[in-house]
Amino acid sequence: MPPQPDMYSNIAIFGDNVAARNHPDWISQSPLGPAWRTNNNFNVRWEVLCATQPEHREEQLDYIEDVARNSQGVWLNSIHFAEHGHCICPRCKDLWKKSGLGWLEWRSKEITDYMAQVSERVRDRAKKKFVIGVLPDPVTNYDRFGVDFDALAPLTDEFLVVMFSKNYATPWYWETLTRNFKKLFREVPLNISLYVFGPGDDPREVPTTNELLTVSVRMARAGVDNLLYLSEKASQIADFQKAALAQVELRDRLRSYGGKPVQEYLDFVQGWDKIVQ
Ligand SMILES: [Zn+2]
Repeated sequence: MPPQPDMYSNIAIFGDNVAARNHPDWISQSPLGPAWRTNNNFNVRWEVLCATQPEHREEQLDYIEDVARNSQGVWLNSIHFAEHGHCICPRCKDLWKKSGLGWLEWRSKEITDYMAQVSERVRDRAKKKFVIGVLPDPVTNYDRFGVDFDALAPLTDEFLVVMFSKNYATPWYWETLTRNFKKLFREVPLNISLYVFGPGDDPREVPTTNELLTVSVRMARAGVDNLLYLSEKASQIADFQKAALAQVELRDRLRSYGGKPVQEYLDFVQGWDKIVQ
């Protein structure tokens, strides 16, 4: 989709079904097989390319800079190695040996060095906002994906943690993850994405309004700086906003869940009455 001048753009770098179809030899390799989405040894939901593939890297750099220039900024996803054990293609093995580094250290250096190049394109050249997205694993992101939060922090304006789920019935876990990331990211703002309605979803199998409001309040009190709500269409967000406004009793009860951040979030929700009828 073309970038929109009044919106931020979301780009997935190494999770790329089209590039994988066109260049099957670019797929990430591991002792448990390649990162095709059909490989159930891993939680890959799309085809994941080798994170050192030079042509893909170069093409993405130019694409990201172009998108940054034509929109408000770039929010990245899929910046990392596919999973633990990836990638053992001949190029990666060669690069690792030449680096003289340990295996995990080499992987994370590859990701950090590439993110430095992307950051330079977006922040320094295009002069736009840059946000790095990571998966919701505060402890083993480094071992699984080569993601080193401390090394990436100076390269990004903010972090985004994608916490998509088709229900948020147990908010304790989401609140805990929020506290974990807030502690790890320190001064870098923490954004979290929540799932409202995905492409082709059955309306009976998406999170309830009650769950979304409750988990949002509990993330607010745990220190999240911004929440993003995913939907396929704008009308689904409007439906969620209307439903949230209708939950007067629940919103009153949630007022007792915490101090200023909770009140600010609930005031924000109240403000939706000005944009949806
Ligand atoms: Zn590789």
